Amino acid sequence: MKPSGFGQRIVVILGLGVALPALVLAALGVFLTLRISSAVESQSLRYDHYMAQQVVEGFEQELLAHLREAVAGAEIEARNGSSSQAILTALAQGTREEPQFVPLSELSDYLLLVVESQPLVYGQEVRGPHRARFAGMMLRDGQGEIVGAGGWWVDPHDFLEKHLQGVMEERLASNTRIYGGIESTRNLSVSVIDADATLLAKVREPASIEYGSALMEGPFEGFAVRVSPISNAPVSWARRFVLIEVAFISLMGLVILGATAFGLRYTVRQLELARIKSSFVSNVSHELKTPISLIRLAVETLEMRRFTSPEESEKFIRLIGRETQRLNQLVDNILDFARLEAGQRVFKFSDVDLVEVVRETLDSYRLRLEDQGFSLAVDLPDHLPAVRGEANAIAQCLLNLLDNAMKYSRTRKEIRVAAAARNDEVTISVSDRGIGISPRDLRRVFEKFVRLETGLVHDVKGAGLGLSLVDQIVRAHGGRVEVTSALGEGSTFTLVFPAVHGEGAKSDEPQARTAS
Ligand code: ADP
Repeated sequence: MKPSGFGQRIVVILGLGVALPALVLAALGVFLTLRISSAVESQSLRYDHYMAQQVVEGFEQELLAHLREAVAGAEIEARNGSSSQAILTALAQGTREEPQFVPLSELSDYLLLVVESQPLVYGQEVRGPHRARFAGMMLRDGQGEIVGAGGWWVDPHDFLEKHLQGVMEERLASNTRIYGGIESTRNLSVSVIDADATLLAKVREPASIEYGSALMEGPFEGFAVRVSPISNAPVSWARRFVLIEVAFISLMGLVILGATAFGLRYTVRQLELARIKSSFVSNVSHELKTPISLIRLAVETLEMRRFTSPEESEKFIRLIGRETQRLNQLVDNILDFARLEAGQRVFKFSDVDLVEVVRETLDSYRLRLEDQGFSLAVDLPDHLPAVRGEANAIAQCLLNLLDNAMKYSRTRKEIRVAAAARNDEVTISVSDRGIGISPRDLRRVFEKFVRLETGLVHDVKGAGLGLSLVDQIVRAHGGRVEVTSALGEGSTFTLVFPAVHGEGAKSDEPQARTAS
């Protein structure tokens, strides 16, 4: 159904006023949810990264503390200006492992890092395959020039593995609640990995989501600490929340869209129905008024004897007959339509001879056709198989088709009526050379109240009931209406009825009742 001007306005108002804002709000809701979720995710990753840095720092402090302990005595010697040998001896005291001396000439092969006070060094061998770490003190000669370093080789693997738990407890113990109180450090998984991402040590199993990580430097260069919650919260909560939220918003959007579409359809339909109703009433009144006025005029003329010849009076009498027939047909149509709609039209079926029905109908109609200047070609066989049906109803269908053939013809006023038997069916067809119907409108013409917006239809009156009535009556007879047409060429409407075989029931009892 095509919306009228007012209908189009309603479509625009509902579309722009309801559907569009709903869509915009839904899109905004999804956008905000995604933004919040990505903020939670990045915040969460930042927390993890922060925790990882805490652990990294913890390792460095731990190593420094170890070194300090080992060099405590030697530091005093160094500050007192003792010789390198005395410092080395002091280094040996209190440690189980013998300190090693690395001469200055070899120190260039080490990457040295001054950690705190001048004498402490961490170094790593850059050439060797093991990238061993060295920790100790700088040794100077009598003039204060650095001659080398004294200290121990440190295995970073061992150290990191051995101290992870302690560092964790010390560094993260106070952070019982992180992520804004959602998580506790007790629920954090911390792992140390080497440059090949091989796991060295781990505290608790991580959840399978992104890690916040921190790379280590100095003596632990090449290693990294990764931190992630042991459960998926809060990232996974954020994701789940986003999923639910997006689904919920989309569903709401769909519901609003559906409701708007439904409301629109309903409103447009109601508006269209209101329009159809009012145009139906005006069409019908016009159709009723025209023959009544003509009849009244003719009767007045005859009464007042305002005709000049007997032929003229004959003309007025024919006009009265023709218009009465037209009026009768219209009233029949309206009454039958109302009964069919209400499911109250009862057909009295009997075996009907279509040749007879067509002949009788044409006899009564011929005058009208000739008056309007139509030529009528009739192609009727002598005999046709009988059809189960109501002769009057079939005649009514034929009259409607003839009426349309007349109404929708322009200058080529040629009508052909034919009846034939084909297979197990009997057909009556009415052809005209009129305005024709476009292929896309072929099925629509059978809908009630439908009048095509083309050609002559504005000049010709009608209520849009005829073909709908024909279709319903023929279907109540177990048949169908076929139509072939070409725009500007003409149309052929064919009523197809099933033929009766052998001795069918011949009662005149009501046989068919239409459903509403
Ligand atoms: P109406 O009272 O308008 O004639 P109908 O139900 O009989 O109503 O026909 C519906 C519409 O189908 C008509 O308004 C017209 O547009 C189209 N139509 C019907 N018969 C013909 C025909 N023979 N040629 C062209 N158009 C036709």
